[in-house]
Amino acid sequence: MKTLKDYEFWFVVGSQFLYGPEVLATVASRAEEMAASLNASGKLPCRIVYKTTVKTPEEATDTIKAANFDDKCAGVITWCHTFSPSKMWLNGLKLLQKPYCHLATQYNRSIPDKEIDMDFMNLNQAAHGDREHGFIAARLRTPRKVIAGYWQDDDVQSRLGDWMRVAAGVAFSKSLKVMRFGDNMRNVAVTEGDKVGVQEVLGWQVNTWPVGKLVEYIDAVTDAEVDALMKEYRKLYTVKTKNLDAIRYQAKEEIAMKKLLDEEGCAAYANTFEDLYGMEQLPGLASQRLMAQGYGYGAEGDWKVSAMTAIVKKMSEGQKGGTAFMEDYTYELAKGREYSLGAHMLEVCPTIAAAKPAIEVHPLGIGGKADPARLVFEGRAGKAIVISLVDMGGRLRLIVQDIECVKPIYKMPNLPVARVMWRAMPDLKKGVECWITAGGAHHTTLTYDVTAEQMHDFAAIMGIEFVHITKDTTVKSLEKELFLNDLAWKLRS
Ligand code: MN
Repeated sequence: MKTLKDYEFWFVVGSQFLYGPEVLATVASRAEEMAASLNASGKLPCRIVYKTTVKTPEEATDTIKAANFDDKCAGVITWCHTFSPSKMWLNGLKLLQKPYCHLATQYNRSIPDKEIDMDFMNLNQAAHGDREHGFIAARLRTPRKVIAGYWQDDDVQSRLGDWMRVAAGVAFSKSLKVMRFGDNMRNVAVTEGDKVGVQEVLGWQVNTWPVGKLVEYIDAVTDAEVDALMKEYRKLYTVKTKNLDAIRYQAKEEIAMKKLLDEEGCAAYANTFEDLYGMEQLPGLASQRLMAQGYGYGAEGDWKVSAMTAIVKKMSEGQKGGTAFMEDYTYELAKGREYSLGAHMLEVCPTIAAAKPAIEVHPLGIGGKADPARLVFEGRAGKAIVISLVDMGGRLRLIVQDIECVKPIYKMPNLPVARVMWRAMPDLKKGVECWITAGGAHHTTLTYDVTAEQMHDFAAIMGIEFVHITKDTTVKSLEKELFLNDLAWKLRS
């Protein structure tokens, strides 16, 4: 699996020949300096490479063509130190296939009161040049992120870093392979979808592998491999069961699934309790562990949530909040303390645990297999979002809701699974009404790291519908938005 460090971003600066070679040399050396300084800031997840100063239409087109075909390049960041006539950029931008950010900044923070003259004005005219540059992308309807502000400021660097994470997530999505064990759960609608359509739009290659092949891999795992993993489990988790054999079987499942995923280059998988032929337990601990290592997971054959979870995990690589496959389970509806309780049969990612998880073994009524080992813990408190991608028939809708996670208000000693409790925005009742109105699934990706703005940017780059339920959303405003979106998408297709 590629890491964020494997991607780089091209810093391409706009200018022209009007100002003479000295100005162009200054522009180039300052652009180098800015890229080096941004890389040294520690705010960016990937490296920025100053590529060139574009002065002619040919340079613009050649640079964009090269960016399109460079696998390392996850996006292009442009800026106009001077004026750069945008008809020069038109043919190139029409070809652009990589995420695009327009950094509207300038080299100097302040206007030098005493020194400023017309030479200074000609060299430092980003305010002028960036407007010309912005117009052509607006005219071409090229999706892009515009970030304005001083390049050395924390907020500008953080926003640029956030966008770079999104763009790397887009690159990851375009090459993502999802492994399916078994089909979707019988008769369930929201986990279904057009796999060819999704591959066309988001790049995902979603294919199936027989459960029997996985069973062969499980049977081939050696005792020594299991012993080594058991050591790691004891270090990371509190073992709260005498049934060590159940844990050992999950270790075998983890090793076998990881091997098969890696061999096939898959970074996400889905399985279903309806298709476990030859397996002794539904993977619980095993799936939780693989999610913690960055793999996407979806239960009941939900390959969409699996892929989204893998992408969000990639975007947030190195961040500490955590991202998990989640399911809305049940509500607390007492007045004044209304919450959702999220969990799953087994498979919640331990990266969101508030404290050291415990390995427990309990019976599982569903699936008809042996009692599976699983990690039990409480999710941490804090601001987060839940994400759901649904297939509307002919197009995809990405739904994001702001939530506030709290320490669960009950101990729930007989609940044998990991749990998270949250307040949906704008409040539980309206939040549920909005979510259901938008068609959001019961399965979600819950993340404390990736923001709604980042998911908005992801949807914009991919060209899919985006719906954000915030503290200010009303059912009425949402209904109107969905109605207008329907019209807009009919025009687009
Ligand atoms: Mn489920």
